[in-house]
Amino acid sequence: MRPWRTYTPARMPVISRFAPSPTGYLHLGHAYSAWMAWRRADVFRLRLEDIDRTRCRPEYYPGIEEDLHWLGLSWQGEVRVQSAHMADYAAALAKLQARGLLYPCFCTRADIARAATAPHGPESIYPGTCRHLSSSARQARIIAGTPYALRLSIAKARAETGTLRFFEENTGWTEAQPERLGDVVLARKDTPASYHLCVVHDDALQGITHVIRGEDLREATHVHVLLQNLLGLPTPIYAHHKLLRGPDGNRLAKRSNSATLRAWRAAGVSAANILNNFEEA
Ligand code: GLU
Repeated sequence: MRPWRTYTPARMPVISRFAPSPTGYLHLGHAYSAWMAWRRADVFRLRLEDIDRTRCRPEYYPGIEEDLHWLGLSWQGEVRVQSAHMADYAAALAKLQARGLLYPCFCTRADIARAATAPHGPESIYPGTCRHLSSSARQARIIAGTPYALRLSIAKARAETGTLRFFEENTGWTEAQPERLGDVVLARKDTPASYHLCVVHDDALQGITHVIRGEDLREATHVHVLLQNLLGLPTPIYAHHKLLRGPDGNRLAKRSNSATLRAWRAAGVSAANILNNFEEA
Protein backbone atom coordinates (compact mmCIF):
# COMPACT_ATOMS: atom_id res chain seq x y z
CA MET A 1 0.00 0.00 0.00
CA ARG A 2 1.26 3.45 -0.82
CA PRO A 3 1.96 5.54 2.26
CA TRP A 4 0.06 8.76 2.72
CA ARG A 5 2.07 11.71 1.73
CA THR A 6 1.65 15.12 3.13
CA TYR A 7 2.05 18.02 0.81
CA THR A 8 3.06 21.43 1.98
CA PRO A 9 1.37 24.08 -0.11
CA ALA A 10 3.90 26.13 -2.05
CA ARG A 11 4.76 29.22 -0.11
CA MET A 12 6.39 32.27 -1.55
CA PRO A 13 9.88 32.58 -0.08
CA VAL A 14 10.17 35.61 2.14
CA ILE A 15 13.02 37.91 1.19
CA SER A 16 13.32 40.67 3.76
CA ARG A 17 15.96 43.18 4.66
CA PHE A 18 17.39 45.45 7.32
CA ALA A 19 18.46 48.86 6.08
CA PRO A 20 20.07 51.01 8.77
CA SER A 21 21.92 54.25 8.18
CA PRO A 22 25.52 54.06 9.44
CA THR A 23 25.22 57.23 11.49
CA GLY A 24 25.90 55.47 14.77
CA TYR A 25 26.24 52.05 16.34
CA LEU A 26 23.10 49.93 16.53
CA HIS A 27 20.99 50.17 19.65
CA LEU A 28 18.11 48.04 20.87
CA GLY A 29 15.52 49.69 18.62
CA HIS A 30 17.56 48.79 15.55
CA ALA A 31 18.25 45.29 16.82
CA TYR A 32 14.52 44.69 17.33
CA SER A 33 13.73 45.86 13.82
CA ALA A 34 16.50 43.72 12.33
CA TRP A 35 15.33 40.68 14.30
CA MET A 36 11.68 41.20 13.28
CA ALA A 37 12.71 41.15 9.61
CA TRP A 38 15.25 38.34 10.03
CA ARG A 39 12.99 35.89 11.90
CA ARG A 40 10.50 35.83 9.02
CA ALA A 41 13.09 35.57 6.28
CA ASP A 42 14.01 32.71 4.02
CA VAL A 43 16.55 35.12 2.59
CA PHE A 44 17.71 38.11 4.58
CA ARG A 45 19.51 41.06 3.04
CA LEU A 46 21.51 43.91 4.50
CA ARG A 47 21.69 47.42 3.11
CA LEU A 48 23.48 50.47 4.44
CA GLU A 49 21.61 53.66 3.65
CA ASP A 50 24.44 56.15 3.61
CA ILE A 51 23.59 58.80 1.03
CA ASP A 52 23.88 61.45 3.74
CA ARG A 53 27.65 61.36 3.81
CA THR A 54 27.94 64.11 6.40
CA ARG A 55 26.26 61.97 9.06
CA CYS A 56 27.89 58.60 8.32
CA ARG A 57 31.20 57.58 9.87
CA PRO A 58 33.57 54.85 8.59
CA GLU A 59 33.68 52.98 11.90
CA TYR A 60 29.93 52.36 11.89
CA TYR A 61 29.93 50.28 8.68
CA PRO A 62 31.89 47.30 10.07
CA GLY A 63 30.42 48.07 13.50
CA ILE A 64 26.88 47.35 12.26
CA GLU A 65 27.90 44.07 10.65
CA GLU A 66 29.79 43.03 13.78
CA ASP A 67 26.81 43.78 16.02
CA LEU A 68 24.40 41.85 13.80
CA HIS A 69 26.74 38.86 13.77
CA TRP A 70 27.00 39.06 17.53
CA LEU A 71 23.21 38.89 17.74
CA GLY A 72 23.33 35.80 15.52
CA LEU A 73 21.67 37.46 12.53
CA SER A 74 23.29 36.63 9.21
CA TRP A 75 22.40 37.79 5.71
CA GLN A 76 22.86 36.49 2.20
CA GLY A 77 24.55 38.22 -0.67
CA GLU A 78 26.53 41.41 -0.78
CA VAL A 79 25.79 44.26 1.53
CA ARG A 80 24.30 47.02 -0.61
CA VAL A 81 26.07 50.27 0.26
CA GLN A 82 23.98 53.02 -1.28
CA SER A 83 26.66 55.67 -1.66
CA ALA A 84 28.46 53.40 -4.16
CA HIS A 85 25.44 53.42 -6.48
CA MET A 86 24.52 57.05 -6.98
CA ALA A 87 24.33 56.56 -10.76
CA ASP A 88 21.45 54.10 -10.28
CA TYR A 89 19.45 56.67 -8.34
CA ALA A 90 20.24 59.38 -10.88
CA ALA A 91 18.80 57.16 -13.62
CA ALA A 92 15.60 56.57 -11.66
CA LEU A 93 15.30 60.28 -10.96
CA ALA A 94 15.81 61.13 -14.62
CA LYS A 95 12.87 58.91 -15.59
CA LEU A 96 10.57 60.88 -13.33
CA GLN A 97 12.02 64.20 -14.34
CA ALA A 98 11.52 63.45 -18.03
CA ARG A 99 7.80 62.98 -17.34
CA GLY A 100 7.53 66.38 -15.64
CA LEU A 101 6.73 64.88 -12.26
CA LEU A 102 9.39 66.80 -10.33
CA TYR A 103 9.84 70.46 -9.55
CA PRO A 104 12.69 72.41 -7.99
CA CYS A 105 12.20 73.58 -4.42
CA PHE A 106 14.36 76.46 -3.23
CA CYS A 107 12.90 76.64 0.28
CA THR A 108 15.21 76.60 3.24
CA ARG A 109 14.30 74.67 6.36
CA ALA A 110 13.36 77.98 7.99
CA ASP A 111 11.03 78.84 5.07
CA ILE A 112 9.28 75.52 5.43
CA ALA A 113 8.99 75.77 9.20
CA ARG A 114 7.53 79.28 8.87
CA ALA A 115 5.01 78.28 6.23
CA ALA A 116 4.05 75.16 8.14
CA THR A 117 2.96 77.20 11.14
CA ALA A 118 0.14 78.47 8.96
CA PRO A 119 -3.03 76.41 9.47
CA HIS A 120 -2.38 74.01 6.60
CA GLY A 121 -2.08 70.77 8.47
CA PRO A 122 0.72 68.69 9.95
CA GLU A 123 4.07 70.36 10.25
CA SER A 124 5.95 67.70 8.30
CA ILE A 125 3.95 68.28 5.12
CA TYR A 126 5.57 70.60 2.64
CA PRO A 127 3.29 73.60 2.16
CA GLY A 128 3.84 73.63 -1.61
CA THR A 129 5.44 77.07 -1.88
CA CYS A 130 7.66 76.29 -4.90
CA ARG A 131 5.07 74.18 -6.67
CA HIS A 132 3.41 77.37 -7.81
CA LEU A 133 6.48 79.18 -9.15
CA SER A 134 6.36 80.10 -12.82
CA SER A 135 8.95 78.48 -15.04
CA SER A 136 10.68 81.86 -15.56
CA ALA A 137 10.93 82.37 -11.79
CA ARG A 138 12.41 78.87 -11.50
CA GLN A 139 14.92 79.53 -14.26
CA ALA A 140 15.97 82.84 -12.71
CA ARG A 141 16.72 81.20 -9.38
CA ILE A 142 18.57 78.30 -10.92
CA ILE A 143 20.71 80.70 -12.97
CA ALA A 144 21.39 82.77 -9.84
CA GLY A 145 22.81 79.61 -8.27
CA THR A 146 20.17 79.22 -5.54
CA PRO A 147 20.48 75.65 -4.22
CA TYR A 148 17.39 73.51 -4.78
CA ALA A 149 15.94 70.14 -4.03
CA LEU A 150 13.65 68.22 -6.40
CA ARG A 151 10.21 67.34 -5.11
CA LEU A 152 7.68 64.91 -6.47
CA SER A 153 4.38 66.50 -7.41
CA ILE A 154 1.99 64.07 -5.78
CA ALA A 155 -0.93 65.50 -7.74
CA LYS A 156 0.77 64.94 -11.11
CA ALA A 157 1.97 61.51 -10.06
CA ARG A 158 -1.53 60.58 -8.95
CA ALA A 159 -2.90 61.68 -12.30
CA GLU A 160 -0.61 59.09 -13.92
CA THR A 161 -1.24 56.21 -11.58
CA GLY A 162 -4.81 56.56 -10.33
CA THR A 163 -5.76 54.63 -7.20
CA LEU A 164 -3.16 52.22 -5.83
CA ARG A 165 -3.39 49.58 -3.17
CA PHE A 166 -0.86 47.59 -1.22
CA PHE A 167 -1.04 44.65 1.13
CA GLU A 168 -0.19 45.39 4.72
CA GLU A 169 -0.01 42.45 7.08
CA ASN A 170 -2.48 42.80 9.99
CA THR A 171 -4.44 45.41 8.05
CA GLY A 172 -4.97 43.76 4.68
CA TRP A 173 -5.40 45.63 1.41
CA THR A 174 -4.86 49.31 1.99
CA GLU A 175 -5.36 52.22 -0.37
CA ALA A 176 -2.19 54.25 -0.83
CA GLN A 177 -2.61 57.84 0.29
CA PRO A 178 0.70 59.46 -0.59
CA GLU A 179 -0.82 62.91 0.02
CA ARG A 180 -0.31 62.18 3.69
CA LEU A 181 3.37 63.06 3.32
CA GLY A 182 2.89 65.73 0.67
CA ASP A 183 5.36 66.50 -2.12
CA VAL A 184 8.36 64.59 -0.81
CA VAL A 185 11.98 65.36 -1.73
CA LEU A 186 13.49 62.92 -4.21
CA ALA A 187 16.78 64.75 -4.72
CA ARG A 188 18.19 66.69 -1.81
CA LYS A 189 20.09 69.93 -2.03
CA ASP A 190 23.28 68.28 -0.78
CA THR A 191 23.00 64.99 -2.67
CA PRO A 192 21.08 64.13 -5.86
CA ALA A 193 18.90 61.41 -4.29
CA SER A 194 16.79 60.89 -1.18
CA TYR A 195 15.71 58.16 1.20
CA HIS A 196 12.37 57.64 -0.60
CA LEU A 197 13.95 57.27 -4.01
CA CYS A 198 16.78 54.97 -2.92
CA VAL A 199 14.69 52.71 -0.72
CA VAL A 200 12.22 51.99 -3.50
CA HIS A 201 14.95 51.40 -6.05
CA ASP A 202 16.93 49.11 -3.78
CA ASP A 203 14.04 47.08 -2.41
CA ALA A 204 13.27 46.11 -6.02
CA LEU A 205 16.91 45.53 -6.89
CA GLN A 206 17.44 43.29 -3.86
CA GLY A 207 14.27 41.33 -4.69
CA ILE A 208 12.59 42.19 -1.40
CA THR A 209 9.19 40.49 -1.11
CA HIS A 210 8.44 41.65 2.46
CA VAL A 211 9.37 45.03 3.86
CA ILE A 212 9.23 44.59 7.63
CA ARG A 213 10.05 47.79 9.49
CA GLY A 214 8.89 50.07 12.27
CA GLU A 215 5.51 51.76 12.32
CA ASP A 216 7.25 55.12 12.23
CA LEU A 217 7.67 54.46 8.49
CA ARG A 218 4.04 53.60 7.79
CA GLU A 219 3.32 56.99 6.22
CA ALA A 220 6.39 56.66 4.01
CA THR A 221 5.06 53.35 2.69
CA HIS A 222 2.21 55.21 0.99
CA VAL A 223 4.73 57.27 -0.98
CA HIS A 224 6.87 54.23 -1.73
CA VAL A 225 3.92 52.43 -3.30
CA LEU A 226 3.34 55.43 -5.56
CA LEU A 227 7.01 55.57 -6.54
CA GLN A 228 7.11 51.84 -7.30
CA ASN A 229 4.21 52.28 -9.65
CA LEU A 230 5.77 55.30 -11.37
CA LEU A 231 9.07 53.47 -11.84
CA GLY A 232 7.53 50.18 -12.93
CA LEU A 233 8.81 48.33 -9.85
CA PRO A 234 6.96 45.63 -7.92
CA THR A 235 5.26 46.48 -4.64
CA PRO A 236 6.33 44.17 -1.82
CA ILE A 237 4.13 43.12 1.09
CA TYR A 238 4.51 45.48 4.04
CA ALA A 239 4.50 44.84 7.77
CA HIS A 240 5.00 47.65 10.26
CA HIS A 241 6.01 46.51 13.70
CA LYS A 242 5.45 48.40 16.91
CA LEU A 243 8.38 50.37 18.22
CA LEU A 244 10.28 49.07 21.17
CA ARG A 245 9.88 51.24 24.24
CA GLY A 246 12.15 51.73 27.19
CA PRO A 247 11.13 51.13 30.80
CA ASP A 248 10.00 54.77 30.96
CA GLY A 249 7.53 54.08 28.13
CA ASN A 250 9.46 56.28 25.72
CA ARG A 251 10.29 54.90 22.34
CA LEU A 252 13.89 53.78 21.85
CA ALA A 253 14.33 56.29 19.09
CA LYS A 254 17.08 55.76 16.62
CA ARG A 255 18.76 58.99 17.56
CA SER A 256 18.10 58.83 21.27
CA ASN A 257 20.96 58.20 23.61
CA SER A 258 19.65 54.77 24.59
CA ALA A 259 22.46 52.26 25.07
CA THR A 260 24.04 50.75 22.02
CA LEU A 261 24.31 47.00 21.56
CA ARG A 262 28.02 47.23 22.17
CA ALA A 263 27.41 48.99 25.46
CA TRP A 264 25.10 46.15 26.54
CA ARG A 265 27.71 43.65 25.39
CA ALA A 266 30.43 45.42 27.37
CA ALA A 267 28.16 45.33 30.41
CA GLY A 268 28.04 41.52 30.13
CA VAL A 269 24.56 41.15 28.62
CA SER A 270 24.38 38.21 26.19
CA ALA A 271 22.77 38.19 22.75
CA ALA A 272 20.41 35.43 23.96
CA ASN A 273 19.31 37.71 26.75
CA ILE A 274 18.45 40.48 24.33
CA LEU A 275 16.61 38.18 21.92
CA ASN A 276 14.61 36.63 24.77
CA ASN A 277 13.42 40.07 25.70
CA PHE A 278 12.36 40.64 22.13
CA GLU A 279 10.29 37.43 22.20
CA GLU A 280 8.41 38.84 25.15
CA ALA A 281 8.08 42.37 23.82
N1 GLU B 1 17.41 53.68 6.71
C1 GLU B 1 16.14 53.81 7.37
C2 GLU B 1 16.35 54.13 8.81
O1 GLU B 1 17.39 53.79 9.35
C3 GLU B 1 15.29 52.56 7.32
C4 GLU B 1 14.63 52.41 6.04
C5 GLU B 1 13.64 51.30 5.89
O2 GLU B 1 13.63 50.32 6.64
O3 GLU B 1 12.89 51.42 4.95
O4 GLU B 1 15.47 54.70 9.39
